[in-house]
Amino acid sequence: MAQFRNFKMVSYVVYGRGSFNQLDEILAPQRKNGAPMIFLLDHFFDGKSLMGRIPLRGNDKIITVDVTHEPKTSYVDKLASDLKEEFGTVSGIIGIGGGSAMDLAKAVSLMMNNPGSSADYQGWDLVKNPGVYKAGIPTLSGTGAEVSRTTVLTGPTKKLGMNSDFTPFDQIVLDPELTANAPVNQRFYTGMDCYIHCIESLQGTYLNEFSKSYGEKALQLCQDVFLKTGWDDASDDKLMMASYAGGMSIAYSQVGVAHAVSYGLSYLLGTKHGIGNCIVMNQLEEYYPEGVAEFKRMVELNNIEIPQGICKGLSDDQFDAMINVSLGMKPLWENALGKNWESIMTREKLKALYQKL
Ligand code: NAD
Ligand code: ZN
Repeated sequence: MAQFRNFKMVSYVVYGRGSFNQLDEILAPQRKNGAPMIFLLDHFFDGKSLMGRIPLRGNDKIITVDVTHEPKTSYVDKLASDLKEEFGTVSGIIGIGGGSAMDLAKAVSLMMNNPGSSADYQGWDLVKNPGVYKAGIPTLSGTGAEVSRTTVLTGPTKKLGMNSDFTPFDQIVLDPELTANAPVNQRFYTGMDCYIHCIESLQGTYLNEFSKSYGEKALQLCQDVFLKTGWDDASDDKLMMASYAGGMSIAYSQVGVAHAVSYGLSYLLGTKHGIGNCIVMNQLEEYYPEGVAEFKRMVELNNIEIPQGICKGLSDDQFDAMINVSLGMKPLWENALGKNWESIMTREKLKALYQKL
């Protein structure tokens, strides 16, 4: 592997309140021979005013996507094969929603031009062909999915992203107005995903000036937003840029303990990414003392309930399954604890941590 990551970024970015209104103009040059644009819309917006603002032309189609559960490879495959059957080819896939809807859009775009199942491409650099044009429009801020080179999918045997240079969006539309109606708890959990990205990146052994410059800015924006009570437009503006910068920070470093442990929860119990990270972060004083203290202040100030006792009554086999998934995330552990991580995070130690959650 090359020593320095040569990473592919999103090609176009538009930012600002009301920038969603520019979507028609942005998509016009991407329309190919009458092939439709397909909008994958988070089901929360079904029938809401945002749905009516989608700039439909010709035989464009809105598909409201079910994000009750985090995206599965089977769902991606079904969406892509239905589109191939109905249209043959499409001009592009536009994902509008939280991290789940955006990840679905990335994955469906790739599967329009790659054979087989999306499960075949879970891993690093397995995708063979570029996807169709794809754009991401976040309606929740925090995951950084708008800038990342992955789309996280749960497949038949693993939960792992399609990580590739073909995965980043061609265009993102960052319009903070779209995040205004998010429920307080959801906004917090997804926002904390960003906060945790910052702590894990800034405290990690992979840190470098590139990651640091984005991570510090994202951290400061998260602090501006969550170390106070009340919410206003500026909070939405700031959190959207925090998500972007936090994503850029981990693109050139890595996440750490909270993510590695949270992946195990998600695999076994279906715990969602944002809340799962919060449940784990709540118990990580040993690894991120200052970050966890500040996280707890944020939880308190924003009046959020972090679930506890979610691993009560699990069997040894179930703990083993979570431990296997978690310890499989080697780069995360190495970033968090250094090259010697295996002697620090033993199976016993990790089990004790899971038992506390
Ligand atoms: P989400 O997309 O799973 O959505 C959570 C809930 O919020 C859903 O019920 C959704 O309908 C609703 N919602 C979305 N926007 C809303 C709005 N404006 N108002 C009200 N409700 C709204 O949540 P998320 O935290 O943004 O994303 C988590 C997903 O992102 C997971 O699937 C995770 O694996 C993925 N993820 C991907 C990356 C990446 O780099 N690709 C990084 C982190 C997380
Ligand atoms: Zn995350």
